Amino acid sequence: MLEETLYRYFRYKSFRPGQKETINSLLEGNDSLAILPTGTGKSLCYQLPAYLREGTVLIVTPLISLMEDQLASLQRNGEKRGVLLNGNLNEQEKMYVLDHFSSYKFVFLSPEMLMQEKILSKLQLYHIALFVVDEAHCISQWGIDFRPEYRNLKQAKKRLHNPVTLALTATATDEVKTEIKNLLLSKNTVEHCYSVDRPNVSLSVIHTQAKLTDLKKLLDKAYGSVLIYCATRKKVEEVYDRLKNDYIIGYYHGGLDSSQRRLLQEQFINDQLQILVCTNAFGMGVDKSDIRLVIHYELPDSLENYMQEIGRSGRDQKPSNAVLLYQEKDEKIHHFMQQQAQQERQFFEFYLDQQLLSKLTELQEKWLQQIKVSDQDSFLTQLRQNETEKQKKLKQMLDYIYFDGCRREFLLSYFGETLTKIPERCCDFHGIKEVIDDKKEYCFSVNKTHWQEILLKMFKEENSQQFRKT
Ligand code: ADP
Ligand code: MG
Repeated sequence: MLEETLYRYFRYKSFRPGQKETINSLLEGNDSLAILPTGTGKSLCYQLPAYLREGTVLIVTPLISLMEDQLASLQRNGEKRGVLLNGNLNEQEKMYVLDHFSSYKFVFLSPEMLMQEKILSKLQLYHIALFVVDEAHCISQWGIDFRPEYRNLKQAKKRLHNPVTLALTATATDEVKTEIKNLLLSKNTVEHCYSVDRPNVSLSVIHTQAKLTDLKKLLDKAYGSVLIYCATRKKVEEVYDRLKNDYIIGYYHGGLDSSQRRLLQEQFINDQLQILVCTNAFGMGVDKSDIRLVIHYELPDSLENYMQEIGRSGRDQKPSNAVLLYQEKDEKIHHFMQQQAQQERQFFEFYLDQQLLSKLTELQEKWLQQIKVSDQDSFLTQLRQNETEKQKKLKQMLDYIYFDGCRREFLLSYFGETLTKIPERCCDFHGIKEVIDDKKEYCFSVNKTHWQEILLKMFKEENSQQFRKT
């Protein structure tokens, strides 16, 4: 029985919804698309079959931090046959991994790596038990995290003799889903799509004229772990500075080095910090089940990302809250970033046109590599289309903020679902009103004395001090 294998290798007693179904369809040799909410345990869908099949599992992951997290989690489980193949390795190290490929069970690699002829030509010699594309929505130009390098995966798959393929993602609109299937999966793909809804997470938006004051009011009532999301690193540090004297708080963004990030994650996971101010660099791969409140101090750029970020809360299924604080014109930061991205693309076109290749930025260099393996015109068209798409997605995010009906219904319909049952603590339209003033609506599982204990412990250990300065 599959359950026995699960227990034997992972010590879990049962599967989460979607896992067993996905694993079975892979074991039967079918390409599979699994759309399972954040935190469900999508990684298990490739980890378990790896132990039941000969050969190496090849996992494409868009971010180095994600790869590191996934490898670390395998290692914690006692697995030594995992390795990362990314830009951090020098040529010699890469060649070592490729020459010993079949001695590994799990090889994680970046999409850029799979584009390189010398890598592909080596990989082709081996038997790939399973080809996994994590965060598969990155393949879609209609998606918010479009990564042009993902477009080559189809070719790569062919070169690898069409191994059984698993595409994983947490959130995909219908358009994105269709593109994943067309570009990556075979005709007889089995789909496992589960609702993005998180019924235990209440949804509210507070329109505010005094954001910081309202943020503090929220925090003063918060009894469990809290995440505060901002759109930029600068804002993260700014908010942290305004709060650091009054709360047990840390901050987290991609600008910190990886050891700092790891330490911070651990402190948050172990309840040595109650609050973490972060960019969306936090979250992927972080496994804390009792986050009770996710506050957005700035709106995300899309409902896909909003869903992902609020999905960090209440993984233990207990009542949790997602509150978005919105002050007029907050969206300006995203307009600005979108303009920057557009300019980058326009300059790229100009440099190409004028043959000024020495001027290319790092990102533009990557694009150049990309158009060497694909068609220049269609590549640029995709970039432009993705820009338009991002504007549309920001607009939909704002529509959510200004919507005066059931927020859950709105969110679900964005992802092509219908709300069948209104949960008890649904949203501000359905009674979670006046979140700031109504004590009763806040159901944090950790009580105050717990925090006093933590405080005492902190003073003893002087934890988190090191983060005050950075
Ligand atoms: P996702 O990629 O879907 O966001 P992950 O694969 O990172 O989620 O897994 C989230 C957490 O769930 C991990 O700590 C993992 O060990 C745990 N997990 C996965 N499957 C199970 C299971 N069947 N029972 C209990 N915990 C599980
Ligand atoms: Mg994942």
